[in-house]
Amino acid sequence: MRIAIVGFGRMGRMVYGKIVESGVHTVSAVIDPYAEGPGITSRELTADALASSDAAIDFTAPEKALENIGIYAEASIPAAIGTTGWYERMDEAKAIVERKGARIICSANFSIGVAIFLQLVEEAGRLIDRSGGYDAAIEEIHHRGKADAPSGTALMAAERLISAMHAKTGIIRGNPEGRIPDDRIGISSLRVGHVPGTHTVTLDGEDDTIEIRHTARSRSGFASGAIKAAEWIACQEPGLYTMDDFTSALHGGI
Ligand code: NAD
Repeated sequence: MRIAIVGFGRMGRMVYGKIVESGVHTVSAVIDPYAEGPGITSRELTADALASSDAAIDFTAPEKALENIGIYAEASIPAAIGTTGWYERMDEAKAIVERKGARIICSANFSIGVAIFLQLVEEAGRLIDRSGGYDAAIEEIHHRGKADAPSGTALMAAERLISAMHAKTGIIRGNPEGRIPDDRIGISSLRVGHVPGTHTVTLDGEDDTIEIRHTARSRSGFASGAIKAAEWIACQEPGLYTMDDFTSALHGGI
């Protein structure tokens, strides 16, 4: 497949390296308005810049996500969107995809390990809902350059817990007013150094604490997952898909 890399920052470069190293696909375009270095084929994402591509992988900036989805839709290029921090506008993305018959997969985390982590979190939430007696909180740690907080992955973990636990109805970021209401899941975000991404779900009871943690060792897992997602979306019917749709299609689910 000929893959366009949109956004040539930390993630775009990792995806580029993986595609070149594996030799299975080729990089047809590298699009970034600001990035330095050789290999950039266009400074602007347009249908023309995507003309010789079969799919795009997008790791750019939250404020560009919807506009970019519109361009992929217009150009009929299937796309895997890894950009986070814009999900409150997902309904608008869905409307664009439906109107234009686009093929888009969006995920805050393309790592297969995180897909497994999220399933474990949901199952733990279900068990705790049955047994009672445990509270839940989420902590995420990322590098200093991360644009959004909480991370999209922490929000996905919270959604899984809320769907499984009757006692939880929403999230709260940090503890701005001191005490956290009982029905909220506290999410704390730490930004330091170069951490690619660590997420810990803590389930705390009177007698013990259960922790479920995913630690990314590098960005490699996100990049490999994004390439697999791009291969997959290129063969789907038009629609807006999630990582869950993709992983459940893999060998009947993971
Ligand atoms: P980064 O800041 O290193 O790179 C972003 C790049 O996008 C920059 O080079 C910037 O110049 C470029 N850019 C900005 N607007 C653009 C546009 N309109 N067209 C093309 N390029 C544009 O950031 P990063 O660490 O590579 O992360 C990018 C996004 O991916 C963030 O939202 C981050 O949270 C997310 N992310 C997702 C996953 C995942 O698995 N889904 C994993 C890691 C990071």
